[in-house]
Amino acid sequence: MAREIKIAGWQKVSLIDYPEKIASVIFIAGCNMCCHYCHNHHILDSCCNQIPLREVLDELRKRKNFLDAVVVSGGEPTVYPFLIPLLRQLRTLDLLIKLDTNGTRPQVLKKVIELGLVDYVALDIKAPQEQYVAMTGMPIDEVLVSLNYLKQQKRVPYMLRTTLSPRLSLDDMVAMGKKLINGATIWQIQQCRVAGAYSVAEVRKIVSKLQQYAVYIVVKGV
Ligand code: SF4
Repeated sequence: MAREIKIAGWQKVSLIDYPEKIASVIFIAGCNMCCHYCHNHHILDSCCNQIPLREVLDELRKRKNFLDAVVVSGGEPTVYPFLIPLLRQLRTLDLLIKLDTNGTRPQVLKKVIELGLVDYVALDIKAPQEQYVAMTGMPIDEVLVSLNYLKQQKRVPYMLRTTLSPRLSLDDMVAMGKKLINGATIWQIQQCRVAGAYSVAEVRKIVSKLQQYAVYIVVKGV
């Protein structure tokens, strides 16, 4: 199973992808969404150039004294059956493991948490309910199952993440805060990198209106 893993990118060291940890980030090829602002377009094609898993594991083993964690990102890792074998291999490295997901496979999310294969989850919440299909090409239903599961489970910490697309208004963000984010510990809001994106000052202004919806609002990319 492990030989089917399609690793499309690898950031050897990151200080911003696992809270308060030094991490290495693996990007799995392919995604079931099509967000207009996706900056990982080059890896969405699951046939894109691949890095051999053996190479990544060998290098992580060599660097593990300098790393705290490995992040499995994408693309969307949960859509592939090789995710669990991959996580099992990463577990042998004695590093913390974070999974980044768009939430469309709640049963996979639940399974990897219950098997103890991840230590932290970042779940993307991309738009208010009624705009989900327009923003991502996918309905929100399964994402809501993932969201509710994460909120009620106590096994792993998690954060919710929203990319501040210029298609989202302040009212949209407030609606998301009230209906989706409310009760979460961390809501990470990421600046979008497309034409027409909000300026840093605009991002700060919007974020200032969202403080009541999570214990911590973290802003990334500004
Ligand atoms: S879910 Fe993430 S990887 Fe997939 S299209 Fe959207 S931004 Fe890109």
